[in-house]
Amino acid sequence: MKRNWNKLNGPGLRSPTVGLRVAKVKEDQSRTRAGFSLYGSDKWKRLSAQLRRDHPYCRQCGKTSMQTTLQVDHIVPLRDGGDPFDRSNLQVLCIPCHNTKTRAERNARAERHPGGGTS
Ligand SMILES: [Zn+2]
Repeated sequence: MKRNWNKLNGPGLRSPTVGLRVAKVKEDQSRTRAGFSLYGSDKWKRLSAQLRRDHPYCRQCGKTSMQTTLQVDHIVPLRDGGDPFDRSNLQVLCIPCHNTKTRAERNARAERHPGGGTS
């Protein structure tokens, strides 16, 4: 009885490069994250997952995680001195609402600092 599958275990099919490639991609990602580590940190991932579990809907428009993608937003932005890990400074928003808020914050900053570069 011939066992053709034996061929599959031949040295020609071993491809260690696949594993290497995956490892390399992971390394690259962690390197990019090093620039701004908050959103890549385990602490943030745990906290944001917890918040989305506790509040599985957008605080602004009320859409649930079934209808949209939810993100955790800093009520007081980090660049305005907000606490990154204080739950009272965090809220769950969907992406469109989050974008709207971010835009509004950017406009408010531009008003506070007229001539700050962006017109
Ligand atoms: Zn929303």
